[in-house]
Amino acid sequence: KPADIECHIVVIGSGPGGYTAAFRAADLGLDTVLVERYETLGGVCLNVGCIPSKALLHAAALIEEAAHSAEIGVDFGKPKINLDKLRDFKQNKVVGQFTKGLAGMAKQRKVRTVQGVARFVSPHELEIADANGKTQLLRFEQCIIAAGSQAVKLPNFPWDDPRVMDSTDALELAEVPKQLLVVGGGIIGLEMATVYRALGSEVTVVEFMDQLMPGSDKDLVRPLAERLKKQGVAVHLKTKAAKVEASKKGLTVFFEGADAGQVPALESGTFDRVLVSVGRAPNGGKLDADKAGVQVSERGFIAVDRQMRTNVPHIFAIGDLVGQPMLAHKATHEGRLAAEVAAGEKKEWVARVIPSVAYTDPEIAWVGVTETEAKAKGLKVGVGKFPWAASARAVGIGRGEGFTKLIFDEATHRIVGGAIVGVHAGDLISEVALAIEMGAEAADIGHTIHPHPTLSESVAMAAEVYEGTITDLY
Ligand code: FAD
Repeated sequence: KPADIECHIVVIGSGPGGYTAAFRAADLGLDTVLVERYETLGGVCLNVGCIPSKALLHAAALIEEAAHSAEIGVDFGKPKINLDKLRDFKQNKVVGQFTKGLAGMAKQRKVRTVQGVARFVSPHELEIADANGKTQLLRFEQCIIAAGSQAVKLPNFPWDDPRVMDSTDALELAEVPKQLLVVGGGIIGLEMATVYRALGSEVTVVEFMDQLMPGSDKDLVRPLAERLKKQGVAVHLKTKAAKVEASKKGLTVFFEGADAGQVPALESGTFDRVLVSVGRAPNGGKLDADKAGVQVSERGFIAVDRQMRTNVPHIFAIGDLVGQPMLAHKATHEGRLAAEVAAGEKKEWVARVIPSVAYTDPEIAWVGVTETEAKAKGLKVGVGKFPWAASARAVGIGRGEGFTKLIFDEATHRIVGGAIVGVHAGDLISEVALAIEMGAEAADIGHTIHPHPTLSESVAMAAEVYEGTITDLY
């Protein structure tokens, strides 16, 4: 059968991994096609992930800041929230601007974009079906799979009821529910809890594990847990939402686990909306990849080597569907690498660490080895921790609850990990990532002159605490 479209390289999926790969491939001279099932480019991150959530978190931060400013003698009064305007800001002023930008950048590079759902039909062919079911056959020499992931849907939840939401639904901001239940206390759940609480919902969070943000060190979560408590957010750990029943009155949720009896401490006994944020599942199993000979795990992950090649050498895979951490900056890095290798460059995936950030209030950021991991692996590490209560700048902006923690190899004094809790932690953690990549020792960090008074000083201070040159903090 003759192909409708021929190209050197096709990228499936236009998320941060996919568009980066397609743009880089085109810049390196490859004839490139980018296939995306949705109308706009940008994938989960730009359309229904990182970017809209941060736009809403900005509104939440303003509300929070205004609420506390009365304490320092500046009273803005009660905020008036115009949901239509907020939605317009998120969707048109932020997301829309960047999806248009991506379309322009694709055009500029002569990357052909095709809208439709792609499936493999052979090792060198894809079938692309548009919304009306019309198909096109595309023949390629090389392919990059960047089809991403989607929210896990719990069974026993009435998903056809619009009051049961995944993160995409929650970001639409259809209304501000009076009683919101967030199922899953990971990064996405807590970010959305932050947004809805600021907008006026009474928020309850249930988490199956014994701490919020499972995977991070326990001390990182404490300032956030304390702040949530003060704000009236009910958090129930070791507790599972097992089943939801919908009625006109609301959503009745059945809980199991430690706090099962206490969770529905609501007068009505029902929630107005339930947000499920219990993780994301890779889309690797939905592409008929076996027709191309590409191995996909039972869970839908695709294994790759250090050059992002799958077991079929002319087919690469990147982003959420190749494994954890499912983060945009990992996808971007992998996208660039795959494109460069496809274009003939002899490169490998060499990043030492990938930072994680929860854009909650306070923000929580960590990178490299955690204390929990060091303990589990028997690594000999030492910790330098600088409490922001000792930073005049942090106290001066009313946010002394944070801290900066650096983790060093005891034998070499080289930095192996770090974490920052507090406002702007997500921006501040990059210095720690750079220090790890550069193999910095505690003295390198401690002796680097940081500007005063800044929150970034806390990184140098934490190194000095480890070195023993600052001793009078506690
Ligand atoms: P995706 O962004 O998932 O894109 C895959 C694309 O492929 C999609 O557009 C999809 O429509 C398309 N596709 C799939 N199958 C096909 C097919 N068969 N044919 C054609 N097209 C197909 N990460 C961060 O680093 N920072 C954050 O602050 C952050 N916040 C987040 C907030 C939320 C609410 C969510 C849900 C996620 C967040 N993430 C964040 C995670 C981040 O969005 C993902 O890690 C990132 O989008 C992964 O990029 P990707 O390129 O692998 O795939």
